[in-house]
Amino acid sequence: APSPVPDYLTRLNPEQREAVETLDGPLLVLAGAGTGKTRVLTTRFAHLLMTGRAFPGQVLAVTFTNKAAREMRERVAAILGRPAEGLWLGTFHALCTRMLRRHAELVGLTSAFTILDTDDQLRLLKQVMEAGGIDLKRWPAPGLMAQIQRWKDRGLPPDRVTPAEDTDYAGGRARALYAGYQSRLRDLNCADFGDLLLHMTEILRTHPEVLADWHRRFRYILVDEYQDTNLVQYLWLRLLAQGHRNICCVGDDDQSIYSWRGAEIENILRFEKDFPNAKVVRLESNYRSTRPILAAASGLIAHNTGRLGKTLRAGRNDADGEKVRVVSLWDSEEEARMVGERIEAAQRSGHALAEIAILVRAGFQTRAFEERLITLGVPYRVVGGLKFYERAEIRDAMAYLRVLAQPADDLAFERIVNTPKRGIGDTALRRMHEVARAERIPLTLAAAKLLQAGGMTGKARAALSELLHGFDRWREALPKDGHVVVAATLLDESGYTEMWKQDKSPEAPGRLENLKEFLRALTEFESLAGFLEHVALVMENDENAEGDRLSLMTLHAAKGLEFDMVFLPGWEEGLFPHARAMEEGGEKGLEEERRLAYVGLTRARKLAIVSCAANRRVYGNWSTTVPSRFLDELPLEHVQREGSGAMARNRMIDVPSVFTGTGGLMARRPRVIEAGAWEVQQRPARQDAIAVGQRVFHQKFGYGRVTAVEDDKLDIEFEKAGQKRVLDRFVEKA
Ligand code: ATP
Ligand code: MG
Repeated sequence: APSPVPDYLTRLNPEQREAVETLDGPLLVLAGAGTGKTRVLTTRFAHLLMTGRAFPGQVLAVTFTNKAAREMRERVAAILGRPAEGLWLGTFHALCTRMLRRHAELVGLTSAFTILDTDDQLRLLKQVMEAGGIDLKRWPAPGLMAQIQRWKDRGLPPDRVTPAEDTDYAGGRARALYAGYQSRLRDLNCADFGDLLLHMTEILRTHPEVLADWHRRFRYILVDEYQDTNLVQYLWLRLLAQGHRNICCVGDDDQSIYSWRGAEIENILRFEKDFPNAKVVRLESNYRSTRPILAAASGLIAHNTGRLGKTLRAGRNDADGEKVRVVSLWDSEEEARMVGERIEAAQRSGHALAEIAILVRAGFQTRAFEERLITLGVPYRVVGGLKFYERAEIRDAMAYLRVLAQPADDLAFERIVNTPKRGIGDTALRRMHEVARAERIPLTLAAAKLLQAGGMTGKARAALSELLHGFDRWREALPKDGHVVVAATLLDESGYTEMWKQDKSPEAPGRLENLKEFLRALTEFESLAGFLEHVALVMENDENAEGDRLSLMTLHAAKGLEFDMVFLPGWEEGLFPHARAMEEGGEKGLEEERRLAYVGLTRARKLAIVSCAANRRVYGNWSTTVPSRFLDELPLEHVQREGSGAMARNRMIDVPSVFTGTGGLMARRPRVIEAGAWEVQQRPARQDAIAVGQRVFHQKFGYGRVTAVEDDKLDIEFEKAGQKRVLDRFVEKA
């Protein structure tokens, strides 16, 4: 009698099952979002172990993130019914690190080699460049770093970079500097991130005995998110797969969103060429999303050309569902309020926060939502990144403002005294500390004294003097120009903004956007002190408690994930599709943006809410936006529009004039004058004024009684937490 089909196989459809049970030979699963590619891969892993085809250590499984690796490990264990140990399961980098530790000596390292972070990488490269007599002003190091990374992504060590490829940087010296950098890394027993794959690929390529060893070990290879592999990752995979040729890759060309990091969609096409008898399985039933969501996403992605072409249909029994919402709003604050209100409503009707996500195109967008969520007391996490006020550039900018407001803030001063680098090194700082300690005065004062006494020389002296004079000047300008103008001036004149403009790393533009958003945040406050206090309170509100949390992340970080309810804000030309992507990538860039939109929509199981704001305030100025072309590309019959940009434009508004030169004229937010459908969404700061003596409830501190009121701040004697000063927005009447 035929043996009974194991339970885990019955949970698959016939095509998925075919993909799981075709164990021998190369296999490519090419299928749209939510069709169960990851489920296939996980089940295949378990199946290999269950059938005794392989021991746990004989399967090599590659995921795109560590989180995905963890999930896969758990699911495999669930099928096995016991913890899965000794697995080779992880990201390309994690797996390569593990392998490289065994062969480090073949590339001149020892097995204890250190992996450098990006700061250290850059520092090392600068040293190499300085030693080579390169003018770092003319040829900033981050530009060369990016070039080196591109070479590494393509699997090219210095000796295989052709002279023809080395023309545009420092007069054709990039290759030589790359070689110098690699040899420094070797001297220090270090590898950078890109080296992990580069070294391993080189070792496998040039040491047949090592390769044969790994061939004996890995009988099966599994790869998720295959569309986003870059060339060196592909070469590494191909080398390892040449042994048993049992390689199974799953991917979706429509979800290729990492070309900016060197990912090459051609790897999918190359697969069938490199593995001539590869079997290709297509999955067409989507089990994740409702029909309208799928139809909207499919309609959108149909605008891309050069797709491999796939069918995607709803595979859920309850596939009928709500249309995709497209909501137009007046500005980004109203957008944040709309999102907040819908989240609260979802919570009220019993939805877990873990099933809700806000997916943004650019990191700076999280600020408006974070503030809204904090105000509403909705716990959230920023996945794959930092919360807005925790980001390095924002902490730096905050430190500048803290010194401005409070010259005795030593911690803040220390953070910025040599950021950007001005030649005020450790020695100079030590001197300042000595004086400060001896005389029990703040560092800024100690610095001034040192300068006066001639206690410092050369570059450090000039730089410190300029910085201190700067602060005097900016402080003086505060009453006249207002804190927003002064903050902007300060970030410019101190060289801080310039530092990021000079930085050619891929993160730099995002940091500059964050700084702009930071200035925008400032305009919402009437004084510098008010802003600083606000941020301090916002930060304090941030507990690390476990528990149910909403997810906030970029679209890039959302790959492979799914949520019941997904918010997709900021669908405006320039933001999404992002201007930079189109400038740098042209039509190709636009198509990648569209794939990103497709990834975003297909994260939603039940409801996708797309929104755009008709106006965005950019550092004090209002600019009218144009709704994203992607909105027009969503098929009408699957979309429900709420409000319209045109409607918004007809309304009257009193725009706060930030640059009146008189300061203090800033309204907290624009007030809508004409009554309209959205009036409900316009919730002014606080109408139900809270008076002294009122009993109130605070989301974090619980019940208490108000003892003093000052503008929007309340002093409250809390029953449990004692006396605290809080923002009135965090408080409701009890
Ligand atoms: P993405 O392209 O976004 O990475 P994917 O193709 O990897 O998606 P999965 O995440 O594996 O898709 O599956 C999507 C959802 O559908 C998951 O919740 C999964 O559990 C469910 N699913 C997959 N296959 C089936 C099936 N045969 N029956 C029921 N549910 C399924
Ligand atoms: Mg997946």
